[in-house]
Amino acid sequence: MLLPVYLYGAPLLRKKSEDISPDYPHLDQLLANLWETLYHADGVGLAAPQIGKNIRLFVVDTDCLSKSYPDGKGFKQAFINAHVLEEAGEEWVYEEGCLSIPKVHENVKRLPRVRLRYCDENFVAHDEWFDGIRARVIQHEYEHLEGQLFVDKLSPLRRQLLKSKLLKVSKGEVATSYRTKKEV
Ligand SMILES: [Zn+2]
Repeated sequence: MLLPVYLYGAPLLRKKSEDISPDYPHLDQLLANLWETLYHADGVGLAAPQIGKNIRLFVVDTDCLSKSYPDGKGFKQAFINAHVLEEAGEEWVYEEGCLSIPKVHENVKRLPRVRLRYCDENFVAHDEWFDGIRARVIQHEYEHLEGQLFVDKLSPLRRQLLKSKLLKVSKGEVATSYRTKKEV
């Protein structure tokens, strides 16, 4: 089932999300809906807060980026109860976008390596390093769990320039190929 994506301005995008237990109701269905919604919207990652649930769950599929970023090939993974343990390397710039902030694409600096503790969809625990484009998408989705958005990382000047655009997004005055929702 396709789920509507909450837009910038919705208060739940600013809340810190909670861990879930393996008996979280209808988790399989929720995961299936996240994947369906992600692919329908041509995204590379989608976090549960974006569809209205403040739980620590996100899905990533970087395969479609593999032409420009070969290390993205075949990387498809659900992350449950993810917690960043450390990050490493030299900052690099990548142009990010977000399904909750349609039509806004901005260069964002992040470290290229991230170590994550998380459970996979079978609730098997992992402690793993991710690099490059995989790390980039994970870091972006992870921030949704912390109530942060990529536009927070821009300079005050860039943010000022985007202000009217962001206001329009928050009012739902933006065309998208997928269903969106504003929180009242
Ligand atoms: Zn996002």
